[in-house]
Amino acid sequence: MTSSATDAEIMIVGAGLSGLACAYLLAETGRSVLVVEAREEPGGRIRSVFDDTTGHYLADLGPTWVWPAYQPVVRRWIDRLGLELFSQFTNGNAVLDYGPDAAPDVRFLPAQDGNMRLKGGPQALIDQLIAGLPEGTLLTGSPVKSVSVTRQGMDVSVSGDDEKTFRCEHLIVALPPRIAERTIEWRPGLPPSLTAAMSQTPTWMAPHAKVVALFERPFWRDNGLSGRIASQAGPIVEGHDHSSPEGSPAALFGFIGWPHTLRAEAGSHLKVHVRDQLHRCFGPACLEPRSIHVEDWATDRYVTSPRDLAEPMSHPETGPDILRSPHAEGRLWFTGAETATRSPGLIEGALDAAERTAGQLSALGRSSLSDDRSVPASPQVSKSGIR
Ligand SMILES: Cc1cc2nc3c(=O)[nH]c(=O)nc-3n(C[C@H](O)[C@H](O)[C@H](O)COP(=O)(O)OP(=O)(O)OC[C@H]3O[C@@H](n4cnc5c(N)ncnc54)[C@H](O)[C@@H]3O)c2cc1C
Repeated sequence: MTSSATDAEIMIVGAGLSGLACAYLLAETGRSVLVVEAREEPGGRIRSVFDDTTGHYLADLGPTWVWPAYQPVVRRWIDRLGLELFSQFTNGNAVLDYGPDAAPDVRFLPAQDGNMRLKGGPQALIDQLIAGLPEGTLLTGSPVKSVSVTRQGMDVSVSGDDEKTFRCEHLIVALPPRIAERTIEWRPGLPPSLTAAMSQTPTWMAPHAKVVALFERPFWRDNGLSGRIASQAGPIVEGHDHSSPEGSPAALFGFIGWPHTLRAEAGSHLKVHVRDQLHRCFGPACLEPRSIHVEDWATDRYVTSPRDLAEPMSHPETGPDILRSPHAEGRLWFTGAETATRSPGLIEGALDAAERTAGQLSALGRSSLSDDRSVPASPQVSKSGIR
């Protein structure tokens, strides 16, 4: 059913970091905002392991690091949301792993410059943003399946338990561009240049998988080891200490270097390979972890498209300006880490994009669409699609 009145002045598709930060900024200026999220849980690529009993955050299955010395936008949001930082643990030697048929080496490897962790993980960003939103701003479990540009506004249809079409004046799409292009039906179609830019923009970390192993204490530190692993054999090709600032819960995390096809073949046995690798790197204490958690982002339809799996992953570059321009005569906007000019693909990019989009919309002014001054009251819909 289509609502005849406007449900929200501004709708945002996607409750990842960028969508939520954008909602937070717009709500702060008094705009009415509704965020619709496909999954039951908000956060997008920010995903965490929680304690089964207490529900407390334990570890990260998505991003872990920020680089506040080089990331002014991250720095600003940490201050704004009252979050705390601590240093990535790097004291001691790394383990160089050569696979099951050779003994590992122990050697000093220089640490990355400036990578810091947030107390409570990047999850703390999500929790604080949501806590700052007016009640009723966030609707989860509601995948957007189509968007129509009409004379009255934007009609946004969601599937899920409660199929519904919402109407808004402005729509902000806060998804990886490839996902927005592939999974939403656009009526009329988007301009070919925009569609091309969206489908050419890779989603950062989409083909990756991450593993976290939890332990009672960081026993590797007792032996002068930093928790770092460098391996060409895998499954973990790069591993790090991931313990809390107090050292308990203790954890190791790793990026799985095996390609997604091999991961799929290994299935639940992947955890056994991980445990065996940790055993050869850090000894028998690794044979009895509290738990092991694998997140394979390649299988996540809201993050990864077939093209992300087919192409070699490279570090994200700044995408074309068309991803940052308004469309449909000022009704349709894009945000998200992949649209950023600063640190595209990263947490810094997601926040930078949110600031940009919220700033652009605020500059446009409230109800500017309907008062016929800066943009026409109804969007121009040509045969070739949305403009
Ligand atoms: C394994 C991994 C490690 C990473 N490590 C780091 C790191 O250490 N440091 C760093 O800075 N960055 C890192 N990143 C990148 C960081 O996670 C992203 O930059 C950031 O989370 C992107 O936020 P976003 O809001 O732009 O997009 P997303 O988090 O992708 O949010 C998009 C949201 O849209 C939702 N959605 C999708 N389709 C629909 C639909 N049709 N309808 C409604 N909702 C929809 C999704 O469910 C999701 O919630 C890492 C990412 C991964 C996966």
